[in-house]
Amino acid sequence: MEKVNVTIVGAGVVGLACALKISENLRDIVVVEKNSSFGQETSSRNSEVIHAGIYYPPGSLRARLCLEGKGALYDYCAKHNIGCKRIGKLIVAVDNTETQELEKLFKNGMASGVSDLKMLNVSEIKKIEPNIRAAAAIFSPSTGILDTHMLMKNFEAEAGASGAQIAYGTELINIEKSDGGYKVFVRDEREGEFSFFTRILINAAGLYSDKIAKISGIKNKGYELKYCKGDYFRVHNNKARYISHLIYPVPLENHVSLGIHTALDLAGGLRLGPDAEYIDRLDYAVEESKKNVFYEDTKRFLPFIDIEDLGPDMAGIRSKLQGPGEGFRDFIIKEESDNNLEGLINLVGIDSPGLTGCLAIAEKVNKMVKEII
Ligand SMILES: Cc1cc2nc3c(=O)[nH]c(=O)nc-3n(C[C@H](O)[C@H](O)[C@H](O)COP(=O)(O)OP(=O)(O)OC[C@H]3O[C@@H](n4cnc5c(N)ncnc54)[C@H](O)[C@@H]3O)c2cc1C
Repeated sequence: MEKVNVTIVGAGVVGLACALKISENLRDIVVVEKNSSFGQETSSRNSEVIHAGIYYPPGSLRARLCLEGKGALYDYCAKHNIGCKRIGKLIVAVDNTETQELEKLFKNGMASGVSDLKMLNVSEIKKIEPNIRAAAAIFSPSTGILDTHMLMKNFEAEAGASGAQIAYGTELINIEKSDGGYKVFVRDEREGEFSFFTRILINAAGLYSDKIAKISGIKNKGYELKYCKGDYFRVHNNKARYISHLIYPVPLENHVSLGIHTALDLAGGLRLGPDAEYIDRLDYAVEESKKNVFYEDTKRFLPFIDIEDLGPDMAGIRSKLQGPGEGFRDFIIKEESDNNLEGLINLVGIDSPGLTGCLAIAEKVNKMVKEII
């Protein structure tokens, strides 16, 4: 039976970043990906924003890895010529109630270590964003946008150059604990079903990561994922030119989502989204009938948007540990020795800011690997 040191399940941005980091020091690394290419799921269905780290409870993994990951990502993009722009963001309050929420958010961001935030009053907002409506705003200069496809392409190429093997069309279907590691069963598009031995198994399977954890033997409650869909609507005409920063509303208190916001891309396009809707099965269709909700939600702070400007775009699905009406849940990034599963590293619930945090997540996983090997 073939033997490898590390098997990573999933070639999304997180699995690829792990492959990149681990292959810097270790040989015999395999990434198994059921799709025919990298990043065909959540990693290519998001806002492509490098978040500053404002929203999450200070000290949580989501706050810390966002902050660390942001710096690492800007550096990586600069070094590898990956499209990326620190365009900055305004989180806007439209009335007094929202202004109070905004102040809480400002304090939260500062407590999390986002030290460059500024509160802006109406005249300061008008100077930098004359076309929006806001009573107050948080200005976050370190928020940016990036070309996620190019990022993953670079991760893939670099990890490959360091010897990591990426097997596309290869689905992990079962796991058996074996002496000193795991027997991994896969179904390969070309070669059919076979198994191999891995010392370390890293579960970076995104929307399926709870299922992979379960077949590996994890019985813990609290790993079950809930799917939370986020639709986008494209602004078809040239209205991206009305703004020069990302514009976000004050988020809902329970952090299910950041609220329907502007998503500017590097090519100058503008989308609105994502909304947040818990769903039972994976479905990426965007209903035209939601247009009115998107329009009503955003015209409060983007008065230049007309309903005719909007058309359905794409959707992404968040892998959430937090169910409807529940409180904040942190990422699960855990080596499972305490569950008698030494060498199994689970990454479950890697919702936003998983893209921003990917290099910091990978660094954390790499440390766990070094402790095992
Ligand atoms: C609407 C939306 C907007 C977002 N916006 C942002 C943002 O602006 N900024 C930000 O930082 N984050 C954002 N996020 C979060 C970010 O996109 C995710 O955290 C990140 O993409 C997760 O990457 P991943 O590699 O864990 O998962 P995925 O990209 O889902 O990758 C997992 C991979 O595992 C593979 N896989 C699953 N099961 C198996 C199996 N059995 N065998 C083999 N392969 C398997 C899948 O095919 C998939 O390719 C957003 C998310 C959503 C949904």
